[in-house]
Parts: sequence; structure tokens; C-alpha cells
Amino acid sequence: MTASFGASAPTDSAAVGAMATPSASGAPGVAAGPTVVTAGPAAVEPGAASASPAASPATPVQAPAPQATTAEGPGRGSYWITTFGCQMNKADSERMAGILEAMGYRPGNDEHSADLVLYNTCTIRDNAEQKVYSYLGRQALRKRADPRLTLVVSGCVAQQEGEALLRRVPELDLVMGPQHTNRLETLLEQVASGQQVVATDEHHILEDITTARRDSPVCAWVNVIYGCNERCTYCVVPAVRGREQSRLPLAIRQEIEALAARGFREVTLLGQNIDAYGRDLPGITPEGRRSHTLTDLLAFIHDVEGLERIRFATSHPRYFTERLIDACADLPKVCEHFHIPFQSGDNEILRAMARGYTVERYRRIIERIRERMPDAAISADVIVAFPGESDAQFRRTLALVEEIGFDQVNTAAYSPRPGTPAATWPDQLEEEVKVERLRELNALVERKARERSARYLGRIEQVLVEGINPKDPSQLMGRTRTNRLTFFPIPAGEATGPALGRLVPVRIEQVRAFSLSGVAVG
Ligand code: SF4
Repeated sequence: MTASFGASAPTDSAAVGAMATPSASGAPGVAAGPTVVTAGPAAVEPGAASASPAASPATPVQAPAPQATTAEGPGRGSYWITTFGCQMNKADSERMAGILEAMGYRPGNDEHSADLVLYNTCTIRDNAEQKVYSYLGRQALRKRADPRLTLVVSGCVAQQEGEALLRRVPELDLVMGPQHTNRLETLLEQVASGQQVVATDEHHILEDITTARRDSPVCAWVNVIYGCNERCTYCVVPAVRGREQSRLPLAIRQEIEALAARGFREVTLLGQNIDAYGRDLPGITPEGRRSHTLTDLLAFIHDVEGLERIRFATSHPRYFTERLIDACADLPKVCEHFHIPFQSGDNEILRAMARGYTVERYRRIIERIRERMPDAAISADVIVAFPGESDAQFRRTLALVEEIGFDQVNTAAYSPRPGTPAATWPDQLEEEVKVERLRELNALVERKARERSARYLGRIEQVLVEGINPKDPSQLMGRTRTNRLTFFPIPAGEATGPALGRLVPVRIEQVRAFSLSGVAVG
């Protein structure tokens, strides 16, 4: 099978600037004592792959509500992590929670009393960024009253703002970019010695030996490639997350084996641009292709004992190959759910976005997926009101949503981000246009999702049980292979605990746009 749909994809070779150093001694309000240091690079563990983390969604999406993680351990006091943004950030937060627990930190009941408060931030949309500043304002007040509080900002805002963040919030102890996630303990040791630390330099990511503290006991995210080499003209991710760094297949497999041994049944392989996995790793096969690709990785982890399901996200249409589709169809544990952002239904806008594919290529990918897996669920991200987008161009986006019939679409109105080319273009659209286009698109997305959900009615779906329905404790919830959230009553006489992680056949009796309800039948 050929490896592409015709469009080839030049690799963007522009280097990502690394970061910050200067002293904050002149910063207003800096308490006497602490010195600002820029954390130096750590050594690369032998065998660790090259370069940089990924985290937020490959595209702007409506900023989800922040999520909180707590944990407690002996001796160090309590911690609290609030996470903004995408799955990649959530995965990073789980790792940092694991590191803090290993250091002996213990549970915080809330962010207002915890001894260490960490905000893992997202800069993909302005409102998510502004929320961080409002949270920090409250913590700065606390810190002035109680200097023992340790205040940390990680993630994309930290990477983007660096030292400037310390000047704006001088009460901060540590500002760390996503590439430094695995160095949290070392950086906190520097803080403990009385320094204010900025760690935003470009950094080779160490292979992580920490056991992440997972929020779900059944499904785990596993980072396989960090960073992004693309240069989409609206996106801050390459600037804040750095260039691509693939983890080695063996390290990934070992992590998944350990997860399966602990009872996890599903993994989602994560990358900003997951299809790019392995292109920074050495090796060419006798057939002349790269030795390490996402397709090869799926095959390599497929036989891990105890693992029931494999997903991956986020895919880029530029790199999505027929070989990958065939592997997904042939490997039973790989679920028939594909998250492939298309961003716009108009080729001119796609060119302006520097996305590197056409609508025609996107359409061919979906057709091929549906040839091999007719029931596959397709989800996507889309941006409306990109600079210069005409009404006719917006209508082409609507037409593509109508034609493809997505199971779900993350929608966003274009939000100019500092440092990106599109933010400087003169043809920015009015707020009212953005709101109106988003409203029209959302209505269509919901109608199409509802139509897609209708196919489940009366079917028996295998649901992997993830927990109790938080809105109705008499129900379990889980997902179909196609990623539809599904609720059903706890079967009579069955305790909840053993059901977690089990595959339960559920007859679907009610369908909604984005979720299903039914009854267990086995
Ligand atoms: S630059 Fe493009 S491909 Fe890379 S993370 Fe941003 S939107 Fe995704």
C-alpha cells in the first residue's frame, strides 16, 4: 500500500527559539532575597529521543474548564494542580502529580490551603490565558501573607512569558515550560534553596521514569511525541512546545506494559502531531521508508497483555497515510475513532493557515477510512473567521461539515495569538462575525452529531466501563470503541468496583448528539 494520498509534506525546519535568563532584581515588588536563575539544561539520558514536548490540542479549541488534581504524601505538605487546556496538558499534570507524590507531597483539599499550588497553563486562546492571571492574583495575595507557599506556573503561558511572568507576578517561585515537566523535582530543589527559577530554555526531554498519578483507573494517556515542526500561521504551539521529540518505542511499550499490569485497559497515544511520530528517530527500512512510524508503533504495542484498546491523537491530514489506515483496520485493539482536524473547508484559507493539504486530500482520507472501517467515528477541529475569511469561504466549511458527517467537531472562532503571523494581518474579522459564524457552525455540528448517533439505536455496543456517572450514581459510564460516551444502570447485584475496566455489552436505547444510554445485556 502506498504511504500517502498524493500531497507531500515538506518539513518545516525553522528552529524554535529557546528562552530566558535575566535577573528580576529590578522587578517591582520582588521580595528581598530570592535570586532569579534560568535553569540550565539537564543531561540527556542515553537513548532518550531528541527534542520537545507537545501538549495542547493540535489546534485551537474551545478552552475546556480547568481540572484539578490533588494528592498527599508524607513530610512535604500538600499540593494542588489546576490544569488548563488539552489532553497533552492533562497528561503532563498527571506526570507532575506523580513526581510530587514521589517527593512526599500530600493532598490538598483545595487551592486556597495547599502548600504548593501549580497552574499548568494553556495559551491557545486568550481567555484561557487571562484566567490564569486571575487565579495567580489570588495566590499572590496568599503568598504575601504566607511566604511558605510555593507557587508554580508551568505549561504554555509559562513558556511564552518566561521572565516576564515573574515581573508581572513577582510572588511566583517557579516558571517552567512544558519541556521541563520531567525536571520538576530538580527545579523545586532550586526553589528550596531560595531562588526564583525560570526554566524555559529549549530542552531535550528526559525519558520519564516517574509513575504518573492517573486520574482514571482505566484509561491512560501516553505521550509518544512532544513538540511540533509545523508552522500553522495561527498557532503558538511550536513556539512554546519546541520541535518534535519522539520517545523510543521500547520506552513507550514498557510504560504501557506497566500500565496494563496496574489494571489500565485503554491507552491513548498522544502527540501534537501524532502522525509525525518517529521522523526524528534514526533508521531506514530495506524498502526505503522510516524505521519508526506511528503505524509501526501501533503494531509494536498491540500485543501488550491486558490492554484492550488503543487510540491516538491528534492526527494531521498532511501526514495521515493509507498504511496507517490499513494498520488501524487490521489491528483489533486499535479503535475506529479518528481525530483529524481539517480547520477550514476552503483551500485558500488552508493555504493561508499553512496547513499543507487541500480539502480534496482530506476528503480522500475520510473516504479511505470509511472503505476500510465503515462504522468509524470521525472527529475534527475547525476554526471560523480566520483573517480574511469571506462568507463564501465560511460556507465551504459548513458544506464540508454537512458532507463528511462528523461525530464531533471542536469549534473555535479565530483568536489572534501574540507572536503568530496571522495575528499581524490587517484583515481581522469583527467580533460579531465570529460569534455569528460560530453559532451557525455549532448548530450544524450538533445536528450532524445527532444524525450520526442515530445509527447506534438498538445496537449492542461494547462499553469499556470508566466509572460512575457523576450526575447519577445509579449508573455506570464508559465509551464505545468509537468514543461515544455511554451510560447504563449498574447491573443488579453488581458492585461498582469490579465493573471498572470491564467491557460490558450494552443495548443502546437512547441517543443524544454526543452521548448514548442503554442497558447491560451480558
Ligand atoms: S503548528 Fe499546526 S500542526 Fe503544530 S500544533 Fe499548531 S496547529 Fe497543530
